[in-house]
Amino acid sequence: MNCLFCNIVNGSIPTTAVYQDELCYAFADIHPQAPVHVLVVPREHVNSLAEANLNDLPLLGHLLWAAAQIAESEGLAKGYRVVVNTGEDGGQTVDHLHLHLLGGRSLTWPPG
Ligand code: AMP
Ligand code: ZN
Repeated sequence: MNCLFCNIVNGSIPTTAVYQDELCYAFADIHPQAPVHVLVVPREHVNSLAEANLNDLPLLGHLLWAAAQIAESEGLAKGYRVVVNTGEDGGQTVDHLHLHLLGGRSLTWPPG
């Protein structure tokens, strides 16, 4: 399997880590949609949120926790948004679970 985010996690595709630990790796989105746009990805390959299972519960919680840590370190005290695009209708384009952390501007609702 040739997965873009697995290749980023394993360093085959170089990126600058915004945050990393034993479970996840975070880096800047290549097409930022806000002044801060960070992707938080699990080191382990999981296709999508829809394909996460009960064994992944601690990992899912950890990813949210990591997003909050990054938001704090990026100075997003006014707020931010965490998005998990899932599947075709959800707009998921990379089939490796990831959280988008968006902030640094006022975000509109509803999304497109
Ligand atoms: P999604 O559409 O939710 O699957 O999000 C995939 C995200 O990955 C998009 O926001 C892309 O801009 C981003 N992306 C694709 N390739 C790269 C890359 N090489 N480095 C950083 N971000 C990327
Ligand atoms: Zn992967």
